[in-house]
Amino acid sequence: MGRLIFLSEEANVTHCAKCGACTAVCPVYRVTGRESLTARGKIHLLERLPTANCSARYADIISKCLLCGACQAACSRGIDLIPRIVAARRDLPLLVGDHPLLGRLVEKTLSTPVLLAAVADLGATIQRLLPNNSGLRLRLGLPPESRIPAAKITAESQQAPSPQNDVAYFSGCLARYPQPEISHATQLLLTQHLGSKPHIPAGQVCCGQAAYSGGKQDDAIQLAKLNISAFANNDLPILTSCASCYHHLSLYPELLQDDKEWAERARIFADRLREFSTFFADLTPKAAKSPLAGNKLDKKTVFYHDPCHLRFHPQIMEPPRRLLTKAGFLIHNLPQGPQCCGMGGLFHLAQPQLAEKIRNHLLTDLEQLSVDVITTTCSGCLLQLRTGVRQKQPPTKVQHLAVLLAEQLKT
Ligand code: SF4
Ligand code: SF4
Repeated sequence: MGRLIFLSEEANVTHCAKCGACTAVCPVYRVTGRESLTARGKIHLLERLPTANCSARYADIISKCLLCGACQAACSRGIDLIPRIVAARRDLPLLVGDHPLLGRLVEKTLSTPVLLAAVADLGATIQRLLPNNSGLRLRLGLPPESRIPAAKITAESQQAPSPQNDVAYFSGCLARYPQPEISHATQLLLTQHLGSKPHIPAGQVCCGQAAYSGGKQDDAIQLAKLNISAFANNDLPILTSCASCYHHLSLYPELLQDDKEWAERARIFADRLREFSTFFADLTPKAAKSPLAGNKLDKKTVFYHDPCHLRFHPQIMEPPRRLLTKAGFLIHNLPQGPQCCGMGGLFHLAQPQLAEKIRNHLLTDLEQLSVDVITTTCSGCLLQLRTGVRQKQPPTKVQHLAVLLAEQLKT
């Protein structure tokens, strides 16, 4: 996973051996058993029929992909389906699926900071009105009770950054609005663990992953340029607490490679990016009170869910586990290895039944571990897992890794 291709002529180059290795690892195939939904099946379709004037059935097959990258990781020929799916989606009239309009609306909202803020305010009202066991609350992924105000970003501090410790922070949409506790916890860790002052540019917008995965090339490029500009005031490392945001932000150089004015700026921006778990795992704590200072004896058991956006490319799986071990947790892994949670960006909205089946598959396997807490570094996976876990009795605690570590500061 990783190459961005919007040009269909390049996307057509394939040498599929029809070996079927991609079938065994595809989460969609696992819950449907349909060959047409595997990478092999989709490549076969894309190579034989152009997307223009395609049928609803054709569009439905193209929509049933999480863009997880598992197929590419398993493919001996290294075939990357994702750019081909994205290129095909560019030609489809709408994001298709069971709820095409909802998916389109969310995509538009994520791409528009003003709309996102309005929806966040509406979400706060909904939170106050809905009972804790409301089905709508579950669908929206809202926490059981309103706890922390949205991490609204105000004008960036005029204070000059300290190059030694300070970092710039890209929160991502979900940590900024529906799950502001992630943003608050990350900032707390930066100040308490590193003695750092987070610089949070007011002009940052959605990373563009939703636009990209929906085939909206122009929107994805526009969002990339807005973010590059927003972080251009200094040359601090750019930390992001969301795995999916990190994955997409690091693809900006490829997204803008043909733009003479922006290609170099995109490369500089990507060089500054830091993934959350790697960043904290590699640092020596500056404060004795840091949860990573080795002074905690909390032996809670934890399951770390590997987001697909870190598992296959760029394969960041060891740092979060190292971080949890340093913080005193006992890690339990699934014997069958990591699995997709079914979130897939907007996939869970466009294909809610499939997303639920994939998530339940993982949650059923997790029951054998019986851990105290489930954690992850992707805001989207967190939402998906939390929604599923709340439907089980008793529900297991699901927390972003930043929130889990920040809680250690209080104990
Ligand atoms: S693993 Fe690769 S070569 Fe084998 S069927 Fe799938 S896409 Fe084709
Ligand atoms: S990207 Fe994931 S969901 Fe899509 S075909 Fe490949 S393995 Fe299946």
